[in-house]
Amino acid sequence: MDPIFAKRMETLGTETAFEVLAKAKALEKQGKDVVHLEIGEPDFDTPKNIKDAATKALNSGFTHYTPSAGMPELRQAIAGYISKTRKLDVVPEEVVVTPGGKPIMFYSILALVNPGDEVMYPNPGFPIYESLINFVDAKPVPIPLKEENDFSLDPEYLKQKITKKTKMIIINSPENPTGGVLNRDDLKVIADCVADRKDVYVLADEIYSRIIYEGKHESITQFPGMKEKTILLDGFSKTYAMTGWRLGYGIMNKELALKCAQLMTNSNSCTSTFTQLAGVEALNGPQTEPERMVAEFKKRREVIVAGLNNIKGITCKKPHGAFYVFPNITGTGMDCRKLGDHLLYNAGVAVLPGTSFGKYGEGYLRLSFANSIENIKKALDRIAKGLEKR
Ligand code: PLP
Repeated sequence: MDPIFAKRMETLGTETAFEVLAKAKALEKQGKDVVHLEIGEPDFDTPKNIKDAATKALNSGFTHYTPSAGMPELRQAIAGYISKTRKLDVVPEEVVVTPGGKPIMFYSILALVNPGDEVMYPNPGFPIYESLINFVDAKPVPIPLKEENDFSLDPEYLKQKITKKTKMIIINSPENPTGGVLNRDDLKVIADCVADRKDVYVLADEIYSRIIYEGKHESITQFPGMKEKTILLDGFSKTYAMTGWRLGYGIMNKELALKCAQLMTNSNSCTSTFTQLAGVEALNGPQTEPERMVAEFKKRREVIVAGLNNIKGITCKKPHGAFYVFPNITGTGMDCRKLGDHLLYNAGVAVLPGTSFGKYGEGYLRLSFANSIENIKKALDRIAKGLEKR
């Protein structure tokens, strides 16, 4: 007998990256060779000093529960790190440690957004935003990110769309999937819209804050009054190549931090103890490895952007941050889903259709350049040949 699911499950979305990965793995099982440009994780190993810290913690008996909001030493290290990088005064009580950055989206939306509230979010954008907005029965209000604006959001559009029902504005900079970055002027417009609204919060997803190629990362929390209204999401997955460790955090006002910790108690109890101690080492130890990774991503960005622009029917802007390109494929005459399937099944390259990131992603593909230059070149060659033989 088929299970009868709760109604709310009808509204929960997903991340297509995992579906494309499954299709690619099935092809590999049949002996086909696939270049993986679909997955959003660094291909580097976690730095040794971080792995050593986890091993030491395990061998020293750090294998039990911790407080739900995180171990005091990690909350302290994160507070220090965010205070320094965002020029803020953050105390450990404003930090909630979670298994990855993703739960911060879940918890802050569960804690703040009621059915019928409006939540603005970038589109194309990380698909989990829209999924969670729908899951809590709120109204999703997409903010289109357009190529002609270099994939930054249009502040005037945002101003027009903000209503009395707006409860949250989600921003993501550097952005997945476009690599767009919000500059100070854009952030100021958002801050100005929110500053005099008591009941509007900003969820600032800054998970790619360290993977930036020009200029420096700007955070909306720097504007007057915004620290109290912002949930700043960051973590270790991308910066320290720690996606599988599951370690992230949110910075938020103390009252909200207590609610998010309560949601942690109700769901995860706490984040893994030895992982948290590895996180202390990541933040306080040498930063040469993450810097090396960004330098390597920068080289790959040059190769992939130039290569895509050389393929007939494709044009590609240079992303300013993260490790994705979002090429325009309208010149191929194919829609993004068909082209994605064609490249996977006939050319052996796994990519994501732009619509995996929302309806404004039509006409684009997302390719991750978290892969070696050799594999990127191989993929570019296969894409060019795959487009010729249609
Ligand atoms: N936010 C964005 C924009 C992401 O792309 C991702 C991961 O792909 C996350 C958050 C989640 O990261 P984590 O692995 O820390 O949960």
